[in-house]
Amino acid sequence: MAQQKKRPNKSNATLIGIIIGLSILLFALLFWALFGPRNQPHSHNETTASTLSSTEPTAATTDHVFPFQPTTPSTEATEPSSQVTEPSTEPAVPFDPTTEGTEPSSGVTEPSTEPPAPATTKMRLVTNVSVMRQPSAHSSSIGTLLAGNEVDVVKFDKDWVTILIGEDELYIPAGTVRELGKYLIVIDAGHQAKANYGKEPVGPGATEEKTKVTSGTQGVSTGLPEYQLNLMVALKLQAILEERGYQVAMIRSTHEVNISNAERAEVANNLHADAFIRVHANGSEDSSVNGIMTICQTKENPYNSALYKDCKELSTLVLDEMVAATGANKQYVWETDTMSGINWCQIPVTIVEMGYMSNPEEDEKMSTDEYQQKLAIGIANGIDKYFEAE
Ligand SMILES: [Zn+2]
Repeated sequence: MAQQKKRPNKSNATLIGIIIGLSILLFALLFWALFGPRNQPHSHNETTASTLSSTEPTAATTDHVFPFQPTTPSTEATEPSSQVTEPSTEPAVPFDPTTEGTEPSSGVTEPSTEPPAPATTKMRLVTNVSVMRQPSAHSSSIGTLLAGNEVDVVKFDKDWVTILIGEDELYIPAGTVRELGKYLIVIDAGHQAKANYGKEPVGPGATEEKTKVTSGTQGVSTGLPEYQLNLMVALKLQAILEERGYQVAMIRSTHEVNISNAERAEVANNLHADAFIRVHANGSEDSSVNGIMTICQTKENPYNSALYKDCKELSTLVLDEMVAATGANKQYVWETDTMSGINWCQIPVTIVEMGYMSNPEEDEKMSTDEYQQKLAIGIANGIDKYFEAE
């Protein structure tokens, strides 16, 4: 009943008109209040974000991925697998760079807060690679780069290579790039803090198995564990080789790893190393035994006899140069097919037994920085000779 009385007459209609007019005005004010001033805090937020990103590179990476969106569709089409993970990157779209271009305020603040571009090294791709947003095989691919192309490398580790495309740090698998005109040496500091007594085949397809990795021997006089001595010399060797212009990759840089001998060889294989140097120290039940030995496979090795000539030459030159640099007793090149870390290799390899930790004098000597430096220089000289002879 009450509703029928409210049926609009002429004066009511005028009132309603005024109310509607006021409402529109109110809405306009509200709209301005909500969206008008947003430009101000928005650009402020961007500045904050960019400032943060200079200390938090990961935050910057997500922001800067967009310029690559245009290349995504064409490669996505050929890579159905990457479509599965694609949605996770979709939310990025609101930050489309084209809209940023039309906003003068953000355009002004952006360049000044940009973190400085990281130092890069030009490298050449040795194979076609999928470029990933994150250092993970589960990350989405933004496209493919072809073998022969040069890329700007920011960082190089055993699993992923960080490359710079535009301002974006992206990732390609290790072993896909080579520095221009440089030999790649992979250094394995033998053993690790904790042994892994699991078993692995002594070579590809072998039925015979061997312990994955032990913690090595120990200094009879110093008590220094072999895995620690090996890394000390390996790091010195890395520095010398890099100074001489080699590209170097380390199997390990810490003691807390778990990498079997076969896996170490596989890393060097995957990196397409020009030479693989496995740094070890020896032990004997006879404490008088001392001197340097290097190890390679035999001519009849069932897994990689084709590499025998190269490995023998590398082993011989490294042994000779180490003896020359240190004045240590020269033992010999031991040819054996019992080393899984050699048998799994598809690249030239030598095991360097720097000296006997079971010999008190040699143990003491090897624990000094000075002698370690001589050992490392000797190995590096041998590597130089090996490539000179090629
Ligand atoms: Zn060892």
